[in-house]
Amino acid sequence: MNWETVIGLEIHVQLATRSKIFSGAATAYGAEANAQACAVDIALPGVLPVINEEAIRSAIKFGLAINAQIPKCSVFARKNYFYPDLPKGYQISQFELPIVVGGRVEIQLPGGNRKIINVTRAHLEEDAGKSVHKGFSGFTGIDLNRAGTPLIEIVSEPEMRSAEEAVAYMKKIHTLVRYLEISDGNMQEGSFRCDANVSVRIEGETAMGTRAEIKNINSFRFVEQAINHEVDRQIDILENGGEIIQETRLYDPAKNETRSMRSKEEANDYRYFPDPDLLPVELDQDEIEAIRTQLPELPDAKCQRFINDFGLSDYDSHTLTANRDIADYFEAAVEASGGEAKLCANWIMGELTASLNKDNQNITRSPISADMLAQLILRIKDNTISNNIAKQVFEAMWGGEGDADSIIETKGLKQVTDTGAIEKLVDDIIADNSAQVDQYRRSPEEKRGKLIGYFVGQVMKKSQGKANPQQVNLLLKEKLAG
Ligand code: ADP
Ligand code: MG
Repeated sequence: MNWETVIGLEIHVQLATRSKIFSGAATAYGAEANAQACAVDIALPGVLPVINEEAIRSAIKFGLAINAQIPKCSVFARKNYFYPDLPKGYQISQFELPIVVGGRVEIQLPGGNRKIINVTRAHLEEDAGKSVHKGFSGFTGIDLNRAGTPLIEIVSEPEMRSAEEAVAYMKKIHTLVRYLEISDGNMQEGSFRCDANVSVRIEGETAMGTRAEIKNINSFRFVEQAINHEVDRQIDILENGGEIIQETRLYDPAKNETRSMRSKEEANDYRYFPDPDLLPVELDQDEIEAIRTQLPELPDAKCQRFINDFGLSDYDSHTLTANRDIADYFEAAVEASGGEAKLCANWIMGELTASLNKDNQNITRSPISADMLAQLILRIKDNTISNNIAKQVFEAMWGGEGDADSIIETKGLKQVTDTGAIEKLVDDIIADNSAQVDQYRRSPEEKRGKLIGYFVGQVMKKSQGKANPQQVNLLLKEKLAG
């Protein structure tokens, strides 16, 4: 049987406000347990929540960026459930009237295809605290530092059809919130995580199958693995005559499996109702338009501009604009190199990205600045060094040995373009390899192209990579012809 996968994601994005959504406590990561939990966060009797306006503005920015509707009025609601890390006994969220309605993002798939994924809604809510099971000899501690941290939850339509599409969508949302600077998107710290709703159905079927929801996945790789695993599990059950139960599951990356956590609550189990402590959020169009003017150039627009202005391929442009810092670095390097866009793109996506990954470093902290990379590229362009030597110079720059010009100078890496010097090298190699020279001269023209590579290699080696390869080629051809 042919099965079709259906996926909808709920992405939780922690907003980068300095204080919490309903209290003045700080949101900074990594503080001592409960050092950032004030009376509101620990739910002392008589306290009242006060909305953080920056959280509202952040949600609106997101909504505008995905072309959503921003309703004139949205309402906070209480979502009631009991859990040790939720001292109020309810979470303040939004239910019937969220701040962002609809909207869409375009995703780019590995083959180059694009697809639109519609967003159902995005609502503001507070995060819960966290249970700490370690170091209490049988007891569980509660850390409420995270309680009240502002989140937007972005709910997609069930429009993704593979784990790959789900990852592309999640990456696109990640790119967007980072462009908008409404979240640091730090996945290790839990600032960006998702719940994946997964079901399968027989191809051609229009009704959706029963879904399982895999909770709190905080890496792109785990999302992909968790979905693929869950799809296999469901197909296996269905093909053996079983039934899927609607439930919440947990993904365990160590075992690459999902496990049941609990059967899924229906919305009415939460007994949602409007929070009487908070006024509805009323917005007028002028406020919304003022926020619109603060939006930066968004990733899709930047991607198209790089294609138009710099002649980049679709793939290169998409890669470079997926991260705003990388895009900025690229533009600075192009400018400083006098427009060498293709070379800049290659070096950034190649050596620079590899080195950043190797050292687990962010581009904003690259030891090679955009200006330094541009200088290196100019030295390739003006034939001071070959591409191979440039890699050596890059390594040295990465290691903090200075800029390209000084490294080329001190290491004596200048390309040899002096014809006399190259001629001497070529003559030596020809003299030392009489057997290969005979073979070359006996070979028909169409075979010589391949054979000449051996001589070029020898000359380059002898010059320690510094001979100009074009000149070596020309001279060899001439001399080997006899
Ligand atoms: P809840 O709030 O209970 O998690 P929602 O109805 O808001 O439920 O849906 C949550 C997510 O699940 C949405 O992203 C939606 O697209 C997705 N979803 C709903 N039904 C299915 C299904 N049958 N298969 C896969 N995803 C689904
Ligand atoms: Mg859900």
